[in-house]
Amino acid sequence: MYAQAWTQFKTWNRLGGIGLIVGIVSIGAVAFLDDGAHGRPIAPRLGYILGGIGVLSILMFFYCWMRQQYFLCPRCGKCFSRGPMGFGMSMNPRRCLHCQLKLFADT
Ligand SMILES: [Zn+2]
Repeated sequence: MYAQAWTQFKTWNRLGGIGLIVGIVSIGAVAFLDDGAHGRPIAPRLGYILGGIGVLSILMFFYCWMRQQYFLCPRCGKCFSRGPMGFGMSMNPRRCLHCQLKLFADT
């Protein structure tokens, strides 16, 4: 019954996870392209590309995280894990804060 909403939630979750992993790996790789703070990067062009990919991936992670934080419950239509007016967080993110619908439940 709520399969479409949960699919959307999972998509944000997966994209956010990919963004976090790619961002950390890319920015970490940029650190190895420096020669140890002597001002002579080993591969400056590759560093800019990896740095850009890393920053964009981290931004994608934050965007997906925010989409998940303000995900609307498919049963009650309110924020799944946020209180009134979008403030406060659920202590149990596996259930809707308002109607107690379990995450990924069908009914
Ligand atoms: Zn709800």
